[in-house]
Amino acid sequence: MFKKVLIANRGEIALRIHRACKEMGIQTVVVHSTADANSMAVRLADESVCIGGPAAKDSYLNIHSILSAASLTHADAIHPGYGFLSENAEFVRMSEEHGFTFIGPKAEHIDTMGDKVMAKKTVTALGIPVVPGSDGAVEDMESGRKTAIEMGFPIIIKAAHGGGGRGMKVVTRAEDFAEAYSTARSEAKANFGDDTVYMEKFLQKPRHIEIQVFGDKHGNAVHLGERDCSLQRRHQKVLEEAPSPALTEEEREHIGALTAKAVRDMGYVGAGTVEYLYEDGKFYFMEMNTRIQVEHPVTEMITGYDLIAEQIRVAAGLPLTLKKERIRFRGHAIEVRINAEDPDTFVPSPGEITQFHAAGGLGVRFDSAMYNGYKIPPHYDSMIGKLIVHGRNREECIRRLRRAIMETVVEGVKTTLPLHLSIIDHPDFQSGDYTIHWLEQQLEKNQSEK
Ligand code: ADP
Repeated sequence: MFKKVLIANRGEIALRIHRACKEMGIQTVVVHSTADANSMAVRLADESVCIGGPAAKDSYLNIHSILSAASLTHADAIHPGYGFLSENAEFVRMSEEHGFTFIGPKAEHIDTMGDKVMAKKTVTALGIPVVPGSDGAVEDMESGRKTAIEMGFPIIIKAAHGGGGRGMKVVTRAEDFAEAYSTARSEAKANFGDDTVYMEKFLQKPRHIEIQVFGDKHGNAVHLGERDCSLQRRHQKVLEEAPSPALTEEEREHIGALTAKAVRDMGYVGAGTVEYLYEDGKFYFMEMNTRIQVEHPVTEMITGYDLIAEQIRVAAGLPLTLKKERIRFRGHAIEVRINAEDPDTFVPSPGEITQFHAAGGLGVRFDSAMYNGYKIPPHYDSMIGKLIVHGRNREECIRRLRRAIMETVVEGVKTTLPLHLSIIDHPDFQSGDYTIHWLEQQLEKNQSEK
């Protein structure tokens, strides 16, 4: 087992990784930018190294500085968390060349899944159903428009190297295709450095259902059930739950087994998430994320497994402790993402947290890096914490979540907690009857009523 792990991330996930390491008797080094010198992860880690200025490119994306820090502190392995360099195959290769184990999948799998056109081809060959669409990249406007007309509108144009819900364009009429196509390409180039785009049928009322998978270096692979992440704003997840209120036991077993088999056939190592759209009883592959996800605690709460610890063990070459016959799903879990944002306008609200109190009690987990007096820097993502609640069933879980939100105190900055309260109090949410478009429709309705 590793003696020392370098954490190449910040915020709540840096702390989350530190916690797993400590429970495994592993020393931690956290790298940080000048803006994060007072972060909780820096305070708690055994060692910390300042690697550059606030801009991500100067610090959390600076491969040379991170590897120098790993070298200086004699770390054995690097955990990238999510975002930043977590899905950067070049970083994996350079880490390994310098003698550090990358806690994550092989570079080749990151490459394949990072190119969504290639990803769809790969999984199709493994027997996974995909969203109907252009067969590969859309090379030029005219052929794209022809395919779109054949498929029938609405369609969605997506960047092959896109991520984070950005760079997608929905087109509802043939006459709007040309403009959407050229904007999509130039935005893809500007944001992701590559203007390859592809096209899919835009599904009208799907849910976002993702399957958590795990593989090891001994050819084993399992799934840990699904998470329902249909509550989104601008294609970004807001609240996640497991199990999905929409799936039957048979559907869960079917898609889980199919996904686990594909992952095993690929020889995939580590944690991964296969994302599907689900509509009228059918699953359609969208993409695979080759890292730990923000919403992994939801799965931890219903299975009782520590997924970060499992990532570390698998990277060290140990076989999965997750065994198919031992994985049981108990009760229900919901996670709400707490963003430092105005809950009505979603404008970021960085600044000093003047009062902070985390909710507690049975079945309540608070993953954050907040503390009294913490100054949220303006340079990064606005997510400052996650409140995760477990109950014996969905109803108990929702009641407990309501209680926990009411108990939570974050003063000095605006947060999205009031938004979460309005979601969980809504009859549509309570009945489990919502699609990926529900939240935006709801927000529009609230706006027009004001
Ligand atoms: P990213 O990697 O940027 O997150 P995804 O491919 O995972 O992109 O898509 C993000 C979200 O966009 C999905 O969860 C879904 O809400 C929406 N979306 C993507 N593809 C489609 C589609 N074909 N039809 C309807 N909605 C879609």
